[in-house]
Amino acid sequence: MNKEKLAIHKRKVETISEMVRSAYDNAKPGEYFSLKKASVSHMAPQPDNPKYSDKPIDVRSLTDIIEIDPDTRTCIAEAGVTFVSLARETLKYGLVPQCVSELKGITIGGAVAGCSVESMSFKYGGFFDSCEEIEIVTGTGDIMVCSKSDNPEIFEMLHGSFGTIAIITLLKFKLVPAKKCVRIDYIRYDTFSEYLDAIKQHYEKQDIEMMDGLIFSENKNVLCIASFVDEEEAPYKNKYFLDIYYKSAMKRKQDFLSTTDYFFRYDADCHWSIRNFAGGIFENKLVRWLVGPFILGSTNVLKASERFPFLTKKGGEPDVIVDVFIPIKNAEEFFNWYLELFDYFPVWIVPYRLQKEKLEGYKFYPWLNQEMVSPIEDELFIDFAIYGFEQKRKGFNYYKALEEKVYELRGMKTLITHNYYEEDLFWKVYNKELYDKVKERTDPKNLFRELYEKTNYKKKIEKTNYKKKTKRLKVGIPRSLYFHKYFPLWEGMLTSLG
Ligand SMILES: Cc1cc2nc3c(=O)[nH]c(=O)nc-3n(C[C@H](O)[C@H](O)[C@H](O)COP(=O)(O)OP(=O)(O)OC[C@H]3O[C@@H](n4cnc5c(N)ncnc54)[C@H](O)[C@@H]3O)c2cc1C
Repeated sequence: MNKEKLAIHKRKVETISEMVRSAYDNAKPGEYFSLKKASVSHMAPQPDNPKYSDKPIDVRSLTDIIEIDPDTRTCIAEAGVTFVSLARETLKYGLVPQCVSELKGITIGGAVAGCSVESMSFKYGGFFDSCEEIEIVTGTGDIMVCSKSDNPEIFEMLHGSFGTIAIITLLKFKLVPAKKCVRIDYIRYDTFSEYLDAIKQHYEKQDIEMMDGLIFSENKNVLCIASFVDEEEAPYKNKYFLDIYYKSAMKRKQDFLSTTDYFFRYDADCHWSIRNFAGGIFENKLVRWLVGPFILGSTNVLKASERFPFLTKKGGEPDVIVDVFIPIKNAEEFFNWYLELFDYFPVWIVPYRLQKEKLEGYKFYPWLNQEMVSPIEDELFIDFAIYGFEQKRKGFNYYKALEEKVYELRGMKTLITHNYYEEDLFWKVYNKELYDKVKERTDPKNLFRELYEKTNYKKKIEKTNYKKKTKRLKVGIPRSLYFHKYFPLWEGMLTSLG
């Protein structure tokens, strides 16, 4: 253990703890606090989110890797470490995290507090599932270490808590062996049913190292099967920057990439979000060559789409950007429903293993409503990632439709973007009893907001602003031109409040 680094970390956490303690002692009712991180947030841009007027708690210093231990295959790192810097460092030891979120700037703390998926998720689940210990600063300023044996309920509930339970400061997590390059085989299936069968077979046999997929239409389902290879086994190394990864996956049969390029192959185009930006001009190769370094890359894309939302949206309701996790036995039903209502492609597919036994007395993740998941037996879920669907039908809320369908199929929709849950439905998906119990212990003054309130702020705005909004719409000015509503964002962008 690097004692010097650990001592520096302790001083940083003491400072954060003092900030929170002072907030706890002095906060007036209704005052909230959000994190001021060093890196950009990977929540979809939400210009009207009240979090931008929260008071900041500065955690920008939490960006160090404390230790990589090749013997125990574990790593200890601060919450603000990004996956790109983490993967680069661990690869020096021939190791990688069990889940390397595909966008370079996602942080390990954000991956736990939000969500994370990756092509090894069919074996290991998300990044949280690789965590052994998590250090937090609670809403009272206490520093606490949580694990499966110490404070296990808090440990489990940190996952998907969206910063509403405590501030994550340090994580200890597992690593797995990796090589310098990756070979990908692209296998095409004509029907979704055959595609699902192939996924199930690989999952059951565990005969491959990595698997994700892209669906381009009802009849064009591509599975990306990948394995680590040594440099000598890679005849060439592709790099996706001028060329667009998702387009190439549609055409190629095979690919070789360096391991870091493999993990971040979706980063340049932020999956395919770039095609919604400025009319898709940044998919042009010449434009990419000329201005790519300033525009491409998920950090640039997310920053720009938050700062200049009128470039990405023509007005109207926000685009659908969301991941939904559906139990494998209901995946085909979901896909058929999706085809009928959305018919929007590509869809990114990530098979995801949700372990049944995480905490004694609970099935799957304890933060899920236990009644909802009680009939589900299979541990394999399919993550359908829908990035950038334009809500076409006026007066119809596609997000809400997803929330209802996903609940009906006993799955879950991530809260990384816009949420319109009625409170009653929300708590049919999430475990209110356990959430309240943990929240009472870690944030009794509700400094970090409550989960429903934080992630479904639109419901509140909808209710309070309904009259104002309809009046404005009557004058026929596109809502994207109400620049004033973006103003709180400038502060938000500068601070990456989350
Ligand atoms: C377009 C898009 C593409 C995406 N693609 C992928 C992908 O390929 N792979 C993948 O795994 N995920 C993906 N995601 C999801 C993303 O990983 C999650 O949104 C994740 O939570 C973002 O982490 P972040 O580090 O950017 O944190 P932020 O976006 O800053 O924060 C996310 C939430 O976590 C909380 N939080 C952050 N840090 C801490 C902390 N230290 N302590 C307590 N709470 C904290 C924040 O308050 C916030 O509520 C994508 C999201 C979008 C919008």
